[in-house]
Amino acid sequence: MFEFLKQFKKDRPMRIVVNGHPALRAKSAPIGEITAEVKDFAEKLTRSLLESEVQGVGLAAPQIGVNTRMIVVKTTGDDGRSRPGALPGELILDPLMPVVLINPEIVDASQETSCVEEGCLSLPGVNGHVTRPVTVVLHATLLDGQEITAECGGLLARCLQHEIDHLDGKLFYDRIPAEEQKAADAQMKKLAKREAGLRRIQS
Ligand SMILES: [Zn+2]
Repeated sequence: MFEFLKQFKKDRPMRIVVNGHPALRAKSAPIGEITAEVKDFAEKLTRSLLESEVQGVGLAAPQIGVNTRMIVVKTTGDDGRSRPGALPGELILDPLMPVVLINPEIVDASQETSCVEEGCLSLPGVNGHVTRPVTVVLHATLLDGQEITAECGGLLARCLQHEIDHLDGKLFYDRIPAEEQKAADAQMKKLAKREAGLRRIQS
């Protein structure tokens, strides 16, 4: 029933995969029932984000090699406070962080956009400017089964769009200007080579 669980080996640590891993380019499948296995996997995903060497603000399941529609976000600092002027959705989500979102989707987005430099735990050493809507409306299910619809702005809005892109096999690299892509290509190749090497060792 849950195809992705076959890919998820309980006894193995979950490595954050980098450019070149096929899971980063595949479309992820929706999650049905929130079973104990789904909750167990959510814990692994959260741990992978919190324990990563480089501090990240979000992680999507494909980044640990599993093509299922789950992300975890933590855009609040250590004090857990919402930013001044936070939108209602941020006030809902911020206190729950790190928060796992199941089947997250952007159901509305502002006309207004901003261009901000992004990075990604799966593309270490790569940065580039991405234009995205400033505010979005998120629809998602929480681990306790509660469905939420939340208007979000700031870093959270950007993070949600970046992570949901991962569920559709899209990387921020695809959205940066051609000249920035060109500048990043050597590093992208290096990462793909490293990923291929790691996969050979694991299999
Ligand atoms: Zn990413």
